[in-house]
Amino acid sequence: MNVLVISDIHANLDALTAVLKDVQDFDAVWCLGDIIGYGPEPNECIQVVKNLPGLVCVLGNHDTAALGRINTLLFNQEAQQSMTWLKANLTDESINFLESIHEKEVLDVATLVHGSPFNPVWEYILDPYIAKGNFQHFSTQFCFVGHTHQPIICSLKKDNQQLIWKQPKFGFEYIFEDKTILNPGSVGQPRDYDPRASYGIFNTETKSWTVNRVEYDIPKAQDKIIKKKLPTRHAQRLSGGW
Ligand code: ZN
Repeated sequence: MNVLVISDIHANLDALTAVLKDVQDFDAVWCLGDIIGYGPEPNECIQVVKNLPGLVCVLGNHDTAALGRINTLLFNQEAQQSMTWLKANLTDESINFLESIHEKEVLDVATLVHGSPFNPVWEYILDPYIAKGNFQHFSTQFCFVGHTHQPIICSLKKDNQQLIWKQPKFGFEYIFEDKTILNPGSVGQPRDYDPRASYGIFNTETKSWTVNRVEYDIPKAQDKIIKKKLPTRHAQRLSGGW
Protein backbone atom coordinates (compact mmCIF):
# COMPACT_ATOMS: atom_id res chain seq x y z
CA MET A 1 0.00 0.00 0.00
CA ASN A 2 1.32 3.42 -1.01
CA VAL A 3 0.63 5.99 1.68
CA LEU A 4 0.80 9.73 1.16
CA VAL A 5 2.14 11.23 4.40
CA ILE A 6 1.37 14.91 4.97
CA SER A 7 1.72 17.26 7.92
CA ASP A 8 1.36 20.91 8.92
CA ILE A 9 -0.85 22.04 6.07
CA HIS A 10 -1.68 25.14 8.13
CA ALA A 11 -4.73 26.16 6.10
CA ASN A 12 -2.63 26.63 2.95
CA LEU A 13 -4.99 25.26 0.29
CA ASP A 14 -2.72 26.25 -2.60
CA ALA A 15 0.14 24.16 -1.21
CA LEU A 16 -2.17 21.23 -0.42
CA THR A 17 -3.67 21.27 -3.91
CA ALA A 18 -0.19 21.28 -5.48
CA VAL A 19 0.84 18.26 -3.39
CA LEU A 20 -2.26 16.26 -4.34
CA LYS A 21 -1.65 17.09 -8.01
CA ASP A 22 2.00 16.05 -7.75
CA VAL A 23 1.37 12.61 -6.25
CA GLN A 24 0.71 10.08 -8.95
CA ASP A 25 -1.02 7.34 -7.03
CA PHE A 26 -1.67 6.55 -3.41
CA ASP A 27 -4.00 4.17 -1.59
CA ALA A 28 -4.20 5.94 1.74
CA VAL A 29 -3.28 9.17 3.50
CA TRP A 30 -1.71 9.70 6.91
CA CYS A 31 -2.09 13.27 8.09
CA LEU A 32 0.06 14.25 11.07
CA GLY A 33 -1.87 17.25 12.31
CA ASP A 34 -2.00 21.05 12.14
CA ILE A 35 -4.35 21.09 9.19
CA ILE A 36 -5.22 24.60 10.34
CA GLY A 37 -3.65 27.63 12.03
CA TYR A 38 -1.64 30.50 10.42
CA GLY A 39 -3.18 30.16 6.95
CA PRO A 40 -6.25 31.65 5.26
CA GLU A 41 -8.34 28.61 4.24
CA PRO A 42 -8.92 26.33 7.24
CA ASN A 43 -12.41 25.06 6.34
CA GLU A 44 -11.42 24.43 2.73
CA CYS A 45 -8.35 22.42 3.81
CA ILE A 46 -10.36 20.34 6.29
CA GLN A 47 -12.92 19.64 3.57
CA VAL A 48 -10.22 18.34 1.21
CA VAL A 49 -8.42 16.30 3.87
CA LYS A 50 -11.53 14.62 5.28
CA ASN A 51 -12.43 13.29 1.82
CA LEU A 52 -9.01 11.78 1.05
CA PRO A 53 -8.99 7.97 0.63
CA GLY A 54 -8.01 5.77 3.59
CA LEU A 55 -7.43 8.76 5.83
CA VAL A 56 -5.84 8.38 9.25
CA CYS A 57 -5.33 11.71 10.94
CA VAL A 58 -3.96 12.91 14.30
CA LEU A 59 -4.37 16.21 16.14
CA GLY A 60 -1.74 18.94 16.10
CA ASN A 61 -1.29 21.71 18.63
CA HIS A 62 -3.12 24.25 16.43
CA ASP A 63 -6.03 21.84 15.88
CA THR A 64 -6.18 21.22 19.63
CA ALA A 65 -6.07 24.95 20.42
CA ALA A 66 -8.86 25.65 17.92
CA LEU A 67 -11.01 23.19 19.85
CA GLY A 68 -10.35 25.26 22.99
CA ARG A 69 -8.50 22.41 24.69
CA ILE A 70 -5.28 24.31 25.32
CA ASN A 71 -4.57 27.80 26.51
CA THR A 72 -3.52 29.94 23.55
CA LEU A 73 -1.28 31.96 25.87
CA LEU A 74 1.20 29.16 25.16
CA PHE A 75 1.38 30.50 21.58
CA ASN A 76 3.40 33.49 20.46
CA GLN A 77 1.51 36.74 19.85
CA GLU A 78 1.02 36.27 16.11
CA ALA A 79 -0.12 32.68 16.54
CA GLN A 80 -2.60 33.93 19.17
CA GLN A 81 -3.88 36.54 16.72
CA SER A 82 -4.46 33.96 14.00
CA MET A 83 -6.04 31.62 16.57
CA THR A 84 -8.61 34.29 17.45
CA TRP A 85 -9.40 34.70 13.74
CA LEU A 86 -9.56 30.94 13.30
CA LYS A 87 -12.00 30.38 16.17
CA ALA A 88 -14.29 33.03 14.70
CA ASN A 89 -14.18 31.45 11.23
CA LEU A 90 -14.26 27.68 11.74
CA THR A 91 -17.53 26.06 10.66
CA ASP A 92 -19.40 23.55 12.84
CA GLU A 93 -18.58 20.90 10.24
CA SER A 94 -14.85 21.61 10.59
CA ILE A 95 -15.09 21.53 14.39
CA ASN A 96 -16.96 18.20 14.26
CA PHE A 97 -14.22 16.73 12.08
CA LEU A 98 -11.45 17.90 14.44
CA GLU A 99 -13.42 16.56 17.43
CA SER A 100 -13.33 13.10 15.83
CA ILE A 101 -9.50 12.97 15.65
CA HIS A 102 -7.19 11.50 18.31
CA GLU A 103 -3.73 12.56 19.46
CA LYS A 104 -2.11 9.26 18.52
CA GLU A 105 -2.84 6.40 16.11
CA VAL A 106 -1.05 3.07 16.36
CA LEU A 107 -1.28 1.10 13.10
CA ASP A 108 0.33 -2.24 12.15
CA VAL A 109 3.59 -0.82 10.91
CA ALA A 110 3.57 2.72 12.22
CA THR A 111 2.65 5.05 15.06
CA LEU A 112 1.35 8.45 14.01
CA VAL A 113 1.64 11.58 16.14
CA HIS A 114 2.06 15.30 15.56
CA GLY A 115 4.89 16.09 17.99
CA SER A 116 6.48 13.00 19.51
CA PRO A 117 5.34 9.59 20.78
CA PHE A 118 6.21 10.72 24.33
CA ASN A 119 4.19 13.95 24.12
CA PRO A 120 2.01 13.64 21.00
CA VAL A 121 0.80 17.22 20.67
CA TRP A 122 3.59 19.40 22.06
CA GLU A 123 7.11 17.96 21.98
CA TYR A 124 9.34 18.96 19.05
CA ILE A 125 11.78 16.31 17.83
CA LEU A 126 14.36 18.88 16.84
CA ASP A 127 17.59 17.03 17.54
CA PRO A 128 19.05 13.52 17.93
CA TYR A 129 19.04 13.77 21.73
CA ILE A 130 15.27 14.33 21.92
CA ALA A 131 14.74 11.69 19.25
CA LYS A 132 16.73 9.04 21.12
CA GLY A 133 14.63 9.43 24.25
CA ASN A 134 11.50 8.84 22.19
CA PHE A 135 12.34 5.41 20.77
CA GLN A 136 11.16 3.71 23.97
CA HIS A 137 7.74 5.36 23.56
CA PHE A 138 6.59 3.50 20.43
CA SER A 139 6.53 -0.21 19.65
CA THR A 140 5.94 -0.21 15.89
CA GLN A 141 8.94 -0.13 13.53
CA PHE A 142 8.07 3.36 12.35
CA CYS A 143 6.88 6.51 14.01
CA PHE A 144 5.75 9.42 11.83
CA VAL A 145 5.93 12.92 13.29
CA GLY A 146 5.46 16.50 12.09
CA HIS A 147 5.40 19.74 14.15
CA THR A 148 8.96 20.96 13.40
CA HIS A 149 8.11 21.64 9.73
CA GLN A 150 11.48 20.10 8.77
CA PRO A 151 11.86 16.75 7.00
CA ILE A 152 14.07 14.35 8.98
CA ILE A 153 15.06 10.69 9.10
CA CYS A 154 16.14 9.23 12.43
CA SER A 155 16.96 5.51 12.84
CA LEU A 156 18.19 3.60 15.87
CA LYS A 157 20.51 0.74 14.85
CA LYS A 158 19.39 -2.52 16.41
CA ASP A 159 22.86 -4.02 16.90
CA ASN A 160 24.84 -1.14 18.45
CA GLN A 161 22.12 1.39 19.37
CA GLN A 162 23.84 3.93 17.10
CA LEU A 163 21.58 6.80 16.10
CA ILE A 164 21.37 8.03 12.52
CA TRP A 165 19.98 11.56 12.08
CA LYS A 166 19.82 13.09 8.63
CA GLN A 167 17.83 15.23 6.24
CA PRO A 168 16.43 13.19 3.37
CA LYS A 169 17.57 13.79 -0.19
CA PHE A 170 14.42 14.81 -2.02
CA GLY A 171 13.10 12.31 -4.54
CA PHE A 172 15.45 9.61 -3.19
CA GLU A 173 14.02 6.29 -2.01
CA TYR A 174 15.15 5.04 1.42
CA ILE A 175 14.47 1.57 2.80
CA PHE A 176 14.74 0.86 6.52
CA GLU A 177 15.34 -2.25 8.60
CA ASP A 178 15.73 -0.53 11.97
CA LYS A 179 13.29 1.36 14.15
CA THR A 180 12.85 4.76 12.54
CA ILE A 181 11.25 8.17 13.16
CA LEU A 182 10.23 9.95 9.95
CA ASN A 183 9.13 13.55 9.44
CA PRO A 184 7.72 14.44 6.00
CA GLY A 185 8.21 18.20 6.50
CA SER A 186 5.39 20.71 6.14
CA VAL A 187 2.93 21.08 3.29
CA GLY A 188 1.86 24.64 3.99
CA GLN A 189 4.64 26.33 5.96
CA PRO A 190 8.09 24.74 5.46
CA ARG A 191 10.80 25.90 7.87
CA ASP A 192 13.94 24.43 6.29
CA TYR A 193 14.55 27.45 4.04
CA ASP A 194 13.07 25.60 1.08
CA PRO A 195 9.68 27.22 0.40
CA ARG A 196 8.33 24.35 -1.69
CA ALA A 197 5.57 22.21 -0.19
CA SER A 198 6.93 19.01 1.38
CA TYR A 199 5.36 15.54 1.60
CA GLY A 200 6.36 11.88 1.84
CA ILE A 201 5.37 8.60 0.24
CA PHE A 202 5.64 5.45 2.38
CA ASN A 203 5.12 1.92 1.11
CA THR A 204 3.89 -0.39 3.87
CA GLU A 205 5.17 -3.58 2.16
CA THR A 206 8.63 -2.53 1.00
CA LYS A 207 9.02 -0.03 3.88
CA SER A 208 10.38 2.49 1.46
CA TRP A 209 10.21 6.24 2.05
CA THR A 210 10.61 9.16 -0.31
CA VAL A 211 10.24 12.85 0.51
CA ASN A 212 9.31 15.13 -2.38
CA ARG A 213 9.06 18.90 -2.76
CA VAL A 214 6.68 20.68 -5.06
CA GLU A 215 6.38 24.31 -6.09
CA TYR A 216 3.07 26.10 -5.69
CA ASP A 217 1.70 29.60 -6.24
CA ILE A 218 3.18 31.30 -3.15
CA PRO A 219 2.12 34.89 -4.09
CA LYS A 220 -1.48 33.66 -4.38
CA ALA A 221 -1.36 32.12 -0.89
CA GLN A 222 0.30 35.26 0.52
CA ASP A 223 -2.36 37.45 -1.03
CA LYS A 224 -5.11 35.47 0.70
CA ILE A 225 -3.35 35.87 4.08
CA ILE A 226 -3.12 39.65 3.61
CA LYS A 227 -6.72 39.95 2.41
CA LYS A 228 -8.00 38.09 5.47
CA LYS A 229 -5.94 40.43 7.68
CA LEU A 230 -3.92 37.64 9.24
CA PRO A 231 -0.40 38.61 10.48
CA THR A 232 1.71 39.64 7.47
CA ARG A 233 4.68 37.71 8.85
CA HIS A 234 2.78 34.52 8.10
CA ALA A 235 2.67 35.58 4.47
CA GLN A 236 6.30 36.74 4.36
CA ARG A 237 7.73 33.53 5.76
CA LEU A 238 6.17 31.44 2.98
CA SER A 239 8.54 32.81 0.34
CA GLY A 240 11.65 32.12 2.42
CA GLY A 241 10.59 28.83 3.98
CA TRP A 242 11.33 29.92 7.53
ZN1 ZN B 1 2.68 23.20 12.69
